[in-house]
Amino acid sequence: MPDADFDVVTIGAGGGAYPAALRLARAGLRVLMTDPKGALGGNCLAEGCIPSKAMREVAAHVRLHARLTGDPAGIGYERIIAHKDDVQATRYAQHERELAGAPQVTLRRAMARFVDRHTVVVDDGVGRTAIKARHIIVASGADVLVPALPGADLCLTSRDLFGRDPRLTERPASMVIIGGGAIGVETASFFAALGTTVTILQLGSQMLSGMDTDMVATLQALLDPAIRIVSDAGVTAVERTREGVRVHYMHAGKPSHTEAAVAVMAIGRRPVIPEGFGALDLAFDQHGIRVDAAMQTGAPHIYACGDVNGRLPLFHVAVRESLVASHNILARDTPCDYMDYTAVPITLFTIPAAAQVGLTGAAARAGASDTVLVESAYAFREDARAQMTGDTGGGIHLFFEAGNLRLRGGWVVGVDADQLIGQIGVAVAAGLSAYDLARFPDQHPMAAEGISHAARALV
Ligand code: ADP
Repeated sequence: MPDADFDVVTIGAGGGAYPAALRLARAGLRVLMTDPKGALGGNCLAEGCIPSKAMREVAAHVRLHARLTGDPAGIGYERIIAHKDDVQATRYAQHERELAGAPQVTLRRAMARFVDRHTVVVDDGVGRTAIKARHIIVASGADVLVPALPGADLCLTSRDLFGRDPRLTERPASMVIIGGGAIGVETASFFAALGTTVTILQLGSQMLSGMDTDMVATLQALLDPAIRIVSDAGVTAVERTREGVRVHYMHAGKPSHTEAAVAVMAIGRRPVIPEGFGALDLAFDQHGIRVDAAMQTGAPHIYACGDVNGRLPLFHVAVRESLVASHNILARDTPCDYMDYTAVPITLFTIPAAAQVGLTGAAARAGASDTVLVESAYAFREDARAQMTGDTGGGIHLFFEAGNLRLRGGWVVGVDADQLIGQIGVAVAAGLSAYDLARFPDQHPMAAEGISHAARALV
């Protein structure tokens, strides 16, 4: 006999879970959320995008200040951590108010595991409760992938840098980052801006694989030249030295090594699968738990949202997936809403930032689509705002469908890339054309002027 019944149970309380929970509660359903953190926000708020971007924001300002004033005065690392802590505390308090305003939602500080397709056991370390649920949303997220290498435990992870009680509390003089993906390169450019000597060791020949290759090449040319990037470096071991760490790797068939005060492991993240899920006989794919566009697993009442399905592990994707699941739960598991990945903005919060959305030129060339694209670009060296910040590298690249000139995608490297990609993404999602964009009075003197400027070149 279960100890309690709920309409919906969520496993996790991050971006894949709480948007659905709050939506469903608003519709009158009784929702139980479970998460050992005992708070909303998941890993994004605890150790991911929020703290890392709060810290990155300070680093970017330090760099801008130095560029505009010629004064290299830095900032104490403890001030950066204090700022991060403040932002996290503000957002946790905000989530608490959100929960207090949703009496239909119960949040338990507990782990959940599956017993069968309708029952989970919730364990808070003191006691266990069996819960029967009509619908279940698995949103247990992802965790840092640490390979079985000798000395891997000597490396810091993103949690140690950005978590609530970070292990790294002083800016290191030097850092080796293992992995040239988004987290690795963002971390490199953030610490380099603060004055740390950074080396990135990456396995393949191209950094940031999966991203538009033209965008990556543009970004790479604008990254701090002090960041040393070693490609085709397969790390074999990490060992402690008197001053820090020594990282051994194979490069061009030969053993090599590099030393630094700290090493950071950033080779990727892997989905966290709740205990008991394996016995439900539901499918996995190469990314994580397999779901369809309705966010349903093989069992229509069990949904998997966010990083646990690994489709596109970004917080804003998790939020939208969560809402799709909530709408389909309200429709009693007969799908009425579907996830669309064609216009999701993806930003690398490097310094400068790089961002892309939709179908881009390099992806089309690589065979992602048969659509013939017409490209139009705008260089930031001509942009008023870029000139004001002194950030005149990079630009905006837009890709339109030949013939009807519908905007299909774009990428931006440089000033305000992280903001501009949202505006470009809305235009892609809304099916706007170069004619529509050309007629829009983009605000002066903002970098968005480049969007209509690029469109006007075609019409
Ligand atoms: P997403 O953005 O995909 O929702 P996050 O990684 O931000 O992912 O959040 C996932 C949350 O799920 C984390 O806060 C984690 O503590 C929680 N979690 C992981 N496994 C379980 C489990 N078995 N029971 C309850 N919560 C879990």
